[in-house]
Parts: sequence; C-alpha cells; structure tokens
Amino acid sequence: MGLYTQESIDRVRDAVDMVELVGARSDLRRVGSRWTGLCPFHDERTPSFSVEAEKKLYHCFGCGASGDAFAFVQEIEQLTFKEAVEQLADRYGVELKREQEDPEAEERRKKRERLLTLLDRVAAYYERVLWESPEAAPAREYLAGRGLGEEVLRKFRVGYGPSAWDSVMMAAQRLGFSREELAAAGLGQRGRQGGFYDRFRARIMFPLADPR
Ligand code: ZN
Repeated sequence: MGLYTQESIDRVRDAVDMVELVGARSDLRRVGSRWTGLCPFHDERTPSFSVEAEKKLYHCFGCGASGDAFAFVQEIEQLTFKEAVEQLADRYGVELKREQEDPEAEERRKKRERLLTLLDRVAAYYERVLWESPEAAPAREYLAGRGLGEEVLRKFRVGYGPSAWDSVMMAAQRLGFSREELAAAGLGQRGRQGGFYDRFRARIMFPLADPR
C-alpha cells in the first residue's frame, strides 16, 4: 500500500476480534472451532457463512464471499483498503505508522521542488522586468509590433532578461537560492575566470511549462 507500514497493518489484523466484527452484521453461533450465521453479503434462509476466529477469515459457501477482516470491512462498507485499515485501527485502538520516505528519494524530491520554485520565481522576475524596466522598452515595442497584446503576454508569462551580468543571480540570492541551484536550473553559469553570471541576458524570455 505504501502509506502505512506493513508492521502496523499486521498489528491491526492481530487486534481485530473477527467474531465481534462480523457478529455486528450477522448473528453468529459457535459450531466447533468455527462460527456460522446468515451471510451478510447475500440473501439466505439457512446459514452458509462461516468465520474462523483464530485465523480471522470468513467464507460463504453460498455466494463465495471470503477474505480477512480488511476485505470484510471493505466489502460491507464499500471502502478502499486504506480506509478499511484506518477504520479497524480506530475501532481496535491500534496506532498506525506511516511509511518513511526513503531519505535519498526525499532529498531528490526536495531538490526538484526547490528548482521548480526557483524557475517560477525567476519567471516572475523576468515578467516584472519586461513590464517595468526602461531597458525592456524596445522589447515591449517589438512584441506589440508582432501583434502580441498584454493579455496574451501575461498569460504565457513572457518576460525579459536584463542585460546586466548578475541581475537574476542577485534576485535569486535575495530569495535564498544558491549559485549551485541557479546553475542546476540552467539559469546561471560559471565563467572561465571563475566568475558566475546570468546565462540569459538582454533577451525576451518565456517559461516552458511541463504539464504535471
Ligand atoms: Zn454469501
């Protein structure tokens, strides 16, 4: 399932009183090691439903319904497996433990989320420059000349990369991003002399959105 640990799911199964659980839906009578009653899943006059208290399984010889406590709750209450686990954990007082994300996967996910945030912030920065900076006036004229109105330009988040060497870098650093992150996002690069500068300068910019 990947959400609750197998160990805590097993503890729920151990805690379940199968006779009590099923008994709430059908009167059960003990017959040897089993309990029998009318099947809660189909209409019948004579009992063909049986519960094995020790193994915590049920089976109906009439309609073929069978399974464990989770399957029983899923079937009778129309729940998902996860919901059935939660309901039984609650009913029998078992604390569920969530699966820990593997630390490396978590690290990768966080890095990726930060880069996506950085790209989004920088796109907003380019947009602001396009609409507010005097240096972007020729770009605004050019776009207008191509018949692109403000509405469509804003819709596609068209912006402008300033000509200075480090405007984006300064802006990103103010937002708490490092040079390494700028480089990883493809927005900055290290020069031959060891300096670090913006990769896209003095040009119209627009983000490529990856539908997720
Ligand atoms: Zn049945």
